[in-house]
Amino acid sequence: MNQETRGWAIAMSYEAKERLKNRLSQGEVTVNVAIDTKIYDSEELTIIADIKGATVPEERLVFSAHIQEPGANDNATGVGVALEIASVTATLIAENKWSPKRTLTFLWGDEMISTKRYVEDDKTRANNIKWGISLDMVGENTSITGGSFLIEKMPDPSAVWTRGKDKHTEWGGMKMSLEQMKPHYLNDFLIDIFKAQGKRANWTVNTNPFEGGSDHVPFLSANIPSVLFWHFTDQFYHTDNDRLDKVSKATLKNVGIASLVSAYTLLNSDEILAKKMILQIESAAIERLNEELKQSKIALDNGEDLKTQLAIIHAWEDWYVKAIATTSDMVKDISTIKNVIESSQKRIRDASQRIVAQINQ
Ligand SMILES: [Zn+2]
Repeated sequence: MNQETRGWAIAMSYEAKERLKNRLSQGEVTVNVAIDTKIYDSEELTIIADIKGATVPEERLVFSAHIQEPGANDNATGVGVALEIASVTATLIAENKWSPKRTLTFLWGDEMISTKRYVEDDKTRANNIKWGISLDMVGENTSITGGSFLIEKMPDPSAVWTRGKDKHTEWGGMKMSLEQMKPHYLNDFLIDIFKAQGKRANWTVNTNPFEGGSDHVPFLSANIPSVLFWHFTDQFYHTDNDRLDKVSKATLKNVGIASLVSAYTLLNSDEILAKKMILQIESAAIERLNEELKQSKIALDNGEDLKTQLAIIHAWEDWYVKAIATTSDMVKDISTIKNVIESSQKRIRDASQRIVAQINQ
């Protein structure tokens, strides 16, 4: 290891990587690398497309798909799904079959840079971005590439205590702190829609705790609710073998349909949806609390400390109580759903209390 100079990396072909891996498994390897490179000024281009909302055009949902990665899955698939959603929407509007209340925006540009600029360039516009979704590696043929489809959730306590069914990907995640949590309805709302599509199409949908590294990050940094749709690990990712034969039409269709349904539902959300969603989030909360009870019992049997178990239950209770309250962003007048929010929050607190009592036994 050279202590004086900084580490370096090069892109190499899939074949070269495999050869190198094979040699490394037999012991130390010395590699001679001849690099031919060109550094030049280039223009950074971003395409922004708006489908303007009919009644609240200043409020919007943004899909970001980065264009700078040269692979088929990373990220021609994200670019393509966004384009398909845009053209389907244009057709539906032209045929008077659908009309969005809020604006649907598409960003095609450099990963993170374009989204960050879009968020920072115009504070008023940014304040009205209600949802940001990153489409990144969304078309994998899982049987060839590896990892299943994933929704990377907004920071929730599974990124602090990762246990049970929750699992980080090989990308890896840093253990988060409770101050970094972003309680919101978006996680469970999307998971339900994608799981329903999974059930219809016999397609596997999984989730992972927050890890970062894509266009959801600039949104979240600006406090805009955001998730990432992706696949990991794809064994061909960032290699010259990330080609069209690794892409599945069926996956693209599944991601496209579920993304479109999610976006349309959110864009036209109102008091009726908010009320429905409150109950949906509540049942996700109860399910989560029961699962954590199960995990805590296992942890206690393994000699882990009681204090941590109680902290975990409280963290989830707190996260969900706050997530329920975020449904108020769908209505003009909060008083129309205030009672529904409060009674739902009370049921979550009660459930949490019962679980705490069971853990304390
Ligand atoms: Zn990517």
